[in-house]
Amino acid sequence: QKAEWAALKNAETVTADGKHFELAANIGTPDDVKGVNDNGGEAIGLYRTEFLYMNSDHFPTEDEQYDAYKAVLEGMNGKPVVVRTMDIGGDKKLPYFQLPDEMNPFLGWRALRISLSEAGDAMFRTQLRALLRASVHGRLRIMFPMVALLTEFRKAKGILLEEKAKLVAEGVAVSDAIEVGIMIEIPAAAMLADQFAKEVDFFSIGTNDLIQYSMAADRMNEQVSYLYQPYNPSLLRLINNVIKSAHAEGKWAGMCGAMAGDQTAVPLLMGMGLDEFSMSATSVLQTRSLMKRLDTTKMQELANKALTEAGTMEEVVALVEEYVK
Ligand code: PEP
Ligand code: MG
Repeated sequence: QKAEWAALKNAETVTADGKHFELAANIGTPDDVKGVNDNGGEAIGLYRTEFLYMNSDHFPTEDEQYDAYKAVLEGMNGKPVVVRTMDIGGDKKLPYFQLPDEMNPFLGWRALRISLSEAGDAMFRTQLRALLRASVHGRLRIMFPMVALLTEFRKAKGILLEEKAKLVAEGVAVSDAIEVGIMIEIPAAAMLADQFAKEVDFFSIGTNDLIQYSMAADRMNEQVSYLYQPYNPSLLRLINNVIKSAHAEGKWAGMCGAMAGDQTAVPLLMGMGLDEFSMSATSVLQTRSLMKRLDTTKMQELANKALTEAGTMEEVVALVEEYVK
């Protein structure tokens, strides 16, 4: 089995009926890029930049960030890199930045909510400038986390364009091919995906949070972990809505939550037409091998059944077992 996976390292991800899917990997630091290439990743689907902030004793400067982003883009040799703007808050703290004591930090001041606030404005603009400057070194996709409202996306994109205009006026080279997208990890955004799809370049579904928010079950609380159900039909319907809404506007939809590398979920996601799967680098070859054995028409049939006939997670899993032998 390991030998079969190794042979797929430099292969394209193609299904039994010849359809291509993008198999990407998640990273936390520039050092992780080697693992992506060693495991045959076709892209980076999520660079969690908050580690840059968490592994520092001060807000990383524009140059420090530029160096990190450049290293990742160059390391990927022109393959796409999705960089997520910082997602601090929730469970992630910074020693040099005071976060308020909150009753529900996961429902509180985190991620883009900080970036769009007065207190986070300078930090956000610094990060965007570093990204814009680095954009000439590869194929950059910028992604905003924890978007609930279309107005939040517009505001964030507006700030990005302001910083781009400033850099261009200063004579700094900036790529014109940067894609700008959002994470779909809040049910409100998943429901309104058709409207978001008119304005974003792509979606990436963050199932780790999307599941906890749609089930109202803390993703770290053992006592309610039975509610944490990636295969629940309600979650599949949300995901399907996101994918179909993206495609209706000619945009692509990916996934960067743990579900994207889940071997039971992959057949369902293929059937729904997910375009990009981003997972831990060590899952890429196993997933490529699985996809190679599967037929997309059959997986569409499977997904349709799961979406229209299943009432429970167990019923969905039984369907997958029936379709994937
Ligand atoms: C997610 O929520 O699915 C996700 C990929 O982001 P994180 O795990 O960093 O919250
Ligand atoms: Mg998340």
